[in-house]
Amino acid sequence: MSASDCLVTETPDVLRAALERADDGVVILDSAHRITHFNAAAERIWKLARADVLGRDAAALSLTCLQADPVVDFRDEISLVRRDGSRIKAAVSLASIVAEGAIHHIVFARDVTAEAERRVRIGLLNAVSDQTNRVVIITDTDQNIRYVNSTFTKLFGYTSAQAEGRRAAELIAGSHTNRKAVGKLVERLMHGGRRGEVETLVYDKDGEEIWVCARIDAFRDTKGRVKHFFALLEDITETRQLRSLQQLIMSALADEVPITEIADRLCRRVEQIAPDVVCSLLHVDSAGLVHPLGGPSLPEDYSRALDGIAIGPDVGSCGTAAFYGRPVLAIDLDTDPRWQPYKARPLQVGLRACWSTPIKAKDGRVIATFAFYFRQSRAPSNWHRRIVDACVDLGAFAIERKEARAEIARLAYHDILTGLPNRAQLRHLITTAIDACPTGGHVALAFLDVDHFKDVNDTLGHAAGDELLVQLAQRLREQIGPADMLGRLGGDEFVILLPNRNAESAARVAGQITDALSAPLRLGSKPMQMSASIGISLYPDHATDIDTLMQQADAAMYMAKQAGRSTHRLFSAEMNGLAEQRLALIAALRRAIAEDALTLSYQPQIRSRDGAVHGVEALARWHDPVLGEVSPAKFIPLAEECGLIEQIGLWSVREACRQMASWRRAGLNIPSVSVNLSPINFRHVALAARLADILAEYELPPNALMLEITEGTFMQDGAAALETMHAIRALGVGLSVDDFGTGYSSLSRLAHLPIRELKIDRSFMRDIEKDSAALAIATAVVRVGQGLGMTVVAEGVETEGQRKMLAELGCDVVQGFLYAPALAPVAFERWLIEHSAEQARAMLGRLDVAPRDAVAVKRSA
Ligand code: C2E
Ligand code: CA
Ligand code: CA
Repeated sequence: MSASDCLVTETPDVLRAALERADDGVVILDSAHRITHFNAAAERIWKLARADVLGRDAAALSLTCLQADPVVDFRDEISLVRRDGSRIKAAVSLASIVAEGAIHHIVFARDVTAEAERRVRIGLLNAVSDQTNRVVIITDTDQNIRYVNSTFTKLFGYTSAQAEGRRAAELIAGSHTNRKAVGKLVERLMHGGRRGEVETLVYDKDGEEIWVCARIDAFRDTKGRVKHFFALLEDITETRQLRSLQQLIMSALADEVPITEIADRLCRRVEQIAPDVVCSLLHVDSAGLVHPLGGPSLPEDYSRALDGIAIGPDVGSCGTAAFYGRPVLAIDLDTDPRWQPYKARPLQVGLRACWSTPIKAKDGRVIATFAFYFRQSRAPSNWHRRIVDACVDLGAFAIERKEARAEIARLAYHDILTGLPNRAQLRHLITTAIDACPTGGHVALAFLDVDHFKDVNDTLGHAAGDELLVQLAQRLREQIGPADMLGRLGGDEFVILLPNRNAESAARVAGQITDALSAPLRLGSKPMQMSASIGISLYPDHATDIDTLMQQADAAMYMAKQAGRSTHRLFSAEMNGLAEQRLALIAALRRAIAEDALTLSYQPQIRSRDGAVHGVEALARWHDPVLGEVSPAKFIPLAEECGLIEQIGLWSVREACRQMASWRRAGLNIPSVSVNLSPINFRHVALAARLADILAEYELPPNALMLEITEGTFMQDGAAALETMHAIRALGVGLSVDDFGTGYSSLSRLAHLPIRELKIDRSFMRDIEKDSAALAIATAVVRVGQGLGMTVVAEGVETEGQRKMLAELGCDVVQGFLYAPALAPVAFERWLIEHSAEQARAMLGRLDVAPRDAVAVKRSA
């Protein structure tokens, strides 16, 4: 007899008692579906008394599984509606047993309502935690993972099955995880502390770095004992780390931080967020030489040693990357053939691998390399690549800006043709030499002017003249000592600064130069005889200030010319007779102003876009009955020295306005007139009021007047000039920086001044067609000027080639002999009428072509 038979037929007392005690409800039915057993647990589940159900039909239990025919075995969780209408969730299983030829059914039932509710709640919580883009990790107090959400799987690559049971620290922490901070926080939580946050690097299943911000909290039981830790991890790789790199560069650029400082800051920040990396930035110059920009963690001697190395197909990682224009990885410096000459120092400080990425300018030129050195022999991770991706564009921008700036700075101090220091730089060099001169010592200043240079220019052309000047500069350089300095004032005038030389020693050098020039220079294959006259002044014997010393050297040079040229003269007191000539000239100028003998000529400024007249520049002319035509290049500096320039400036403004008003009345539409003012005019804030009066007098709008100022205006005694400039700008009158590129102004300074226009100095025009460097410079000035929202005017445009080039650069306005020289008013009116007619013809020509073009287009379509 089987156990079940026994149960049904003669249930022994022990079993009966056991059934009564069971947690599950047990119901037994006979073959006719009548209830034969109903234990205590069943009474609780169905809320029915045993007496009410025994012997009754199973339908009383409202179990659908019993209503099937035939009844089959069953196991499920079902909803049970009880007699009193209440509902519970019950786990029900039904088994059929055959005993003594009859079928019995035995039903086990358990109330699982609470469990089911908990399961639903957990399901909901899961769904919620899977919804968030934050990683959820729950651990026990030993930090074994008990739960992770789906974001965890997405971010780290481990399934919850792979994660659960593992120690969180083993699973996602790695070499650069801030275990200390996490440990401290956990410790604090264990002792009742509040939740906290830690920013740290963690690692995914493939070992890739992920920056997270982890907020860790503790779950406590009612007695306050910690039961679980709960961590919410936010991936801040993109949002905070990469963006912070970009912000670092941008804000440094905005603050005009020097590029080397930007590079150092960038490297340091990269090393913080990628602690495996030692970072460096090298600049690649236009000659293909590298120069360290930043690399604060590399040994200084190593960086220094890299300076000036030429890029090439097998020059370390950086030189090679720059050469090919693509990233280069050297997994093991020790064995990499490209690294053999350079490897010793990095290996010594424990750097084994180097990955370098080229940084390219907008035109595709490699301008820098961004290198990651590693302490292991390894390749960069995705994280490293993302860092580089995030930085290269901004890096390129920063470096390009630096290049443009350096170029403009170089321009400001160097003569383009010869590469020698220019007037501005010379003054600086002379001041330095004088300051450094010991008591009892001397500094000699020699002015050199080429004899009959004008003839060369006039007969052989400017190109030949330029070529000759370059050769001359070369020869002069060979004649001077290492401490001496050679510069070019402009034209055919050179200056030689001779520190620590007395009169005899300086005269000896001058003699050597005269001798050296006796050997002919070569123009192509033609020998060319050339000589120069030299004048020398001596600090402190002749004068102690630069201006007087220069005048004296100049006077001595004239004496050398008068002595028959090809010789030198030392300044002497008798030469002060020249000062008398100067006084006579000043008197004549005074008279000319008093008698209103100065006139203005007008040179048109042409808009590149459409050839229309943008404005005119008014240039002073002085015809003296005795001296003849005196060039403004001569009388303007004189007027500045003797205090006449203020008067000339105001006179020019008034005269230009009078002329404009007269033209406007006559129906000639000239948008504006530019008047040149001296820095001295800007010393009085009253200038703005005077301008307002003049404009009112001639009924001109303020935008009809533009003032050309030189960089000197806002470089010297700043405050008053600046106030005047702002007052003028407030008036609506424009300010234009004349001769841009020859002075000292820093671009950052320009950006903060109320300036509307930049005029590129005419010295840059000459080489713009043939010299790519000159073109690059003009490009930089145009870009920078327009970047600052200014109109850019190119002056001194003489050829169609130059005009075309400038138009391609996007230069707004051109001015020069190509269109017209400065013309007296009547001549200018004629020019304007002819120009307007030409404009109209050109426009008609375009209209004429248009219909035919339209037909052609239609046909081909
Ligand atoms: P600037 O203001 O730079 O004037 C431009 C000079 O370049 C003018 O010389 C003009 O005749 C010349 N120029 C114009 N187009 C070309 C060209 O295509 N090629 C070449 N090689 N030169 C060209 P200018 O009239 O002899 O004036 C010399 C300087 O005297 C001016 O240089 C300006 O600094 C000063 N100046 C002239 N008039 C006045 C004035 O009324 N007041 C003040 N303060 N300075 C003046
Ligand atoms: Ca000017
Ligand atoms: Ca100019």
